[in-house]
Amino acid sequence: MSKDMFAIFGDPVSHSKSPLMHNLAFKGLGFDGSYGRYLLKDGSKLKEKFLSLGLQGANITVPHKEEAYNACDRLDDFAQKVGVVNTIVKKDGLLYGYNTDASGFLRAIMEFGECERVLFLGAGGTAKSTAILLRESGYSVTLLNRSAKRLEYFKNEGFDTFTFDEFKPSEYDLIINMTSAGLSDDSLPAPLEILQSIIPKAKACVDVIYGRETPFLKLVKENNKPYKDGSDMLLYQGVIAFEYFTDHKYNFEQIKPYMQKAFIL
Ligand code: NDP
Repeated sequence: MSKDMFAIFGDPVSHSKSPLMHNLAFKGLGFDGSYGRYLLKDGSKLKEKFLSLGLQGANITVPHKEEAYNACDRLDDFAQKVGVVNTIVKKDGLLYGYNTDASGFLRAIMEFGECERVLFLGAGGTAKSTAILLRESGYSVTLLNRSAKRLEYFKNEGFDTFTFDEFKPSEYDLIINMTSAGLSDDSLPAPLEILQSIIPKAKACVDVIYGRETPFLKLVKENNKPYKDGSDMLLYQGVIAFEYFTDHKYNFEQIKPYMQKAFIL
């Protein structure tokens, strides 16, 4: 049998940890696979490239997750509902699409234990799939965003939504920075007064950004709250994608320790 080939498609893609994560797991588990990266400028060419490279599976990152949805022949129920795909697997000549970003995120926050009321700071693409999955899993999700425009989708889906001006502080178990504030600047995801009115009452906080201490996480630490950055989300979406890539030959707990090494190298 020949080696199974996988890749991540994105633009940019050079920074991605996915090749290292998946190759460590292939090696550690003795699976004959190889995972590379592909800079894809034109998302409409995704299916053509996937097939011409002879891939068995792929991950898709910014900005092509919606194009990836269109490239698939079959979608699982959740990917169908949210319209966003980050994992594709080829089976019997057909491309099957999944969303493991949201399930990875859910798994990461479940480790905080009993939590119900969640506040998302931000209302972008990542917030869409995760808000829907969290609600399906029994959490109540409220969204607070800088501009009103991105909140429309969530309002139509029946979520409680606020802009900064409208916000009425309440108690939240989990507060999550889902914005790109702090990714490459020093901004907070919401005005300081708002954050100071809610963080002290929270059980824990999460920033989906990883690899740097954002101003939001700094504030969370000052309040002595349990926290996570985005590393577990990234790790867990990869573990769940790997389960699909290997047709569930390995389970989550078997895969995780090998992929985790990508974060300490
Ligand atoms: P989008 O571009 O779709 O949305 C960006 C969101 O951030 C919007 O709600 C926007 O508000 C808000 N925002 C941006 N800058 C600021 C600011 N200075 N102050 C307040 N709000 C701001 O982004 P994505 O959903 O694709 O990504 C969001 C974050 O999630 C990124 O930081 C990304 O790196 C991270 N991420 C992490 C992953 C992981 O595995 N850990 C996986 C995927 C994403 P507005 O509507 O007002 O413009």
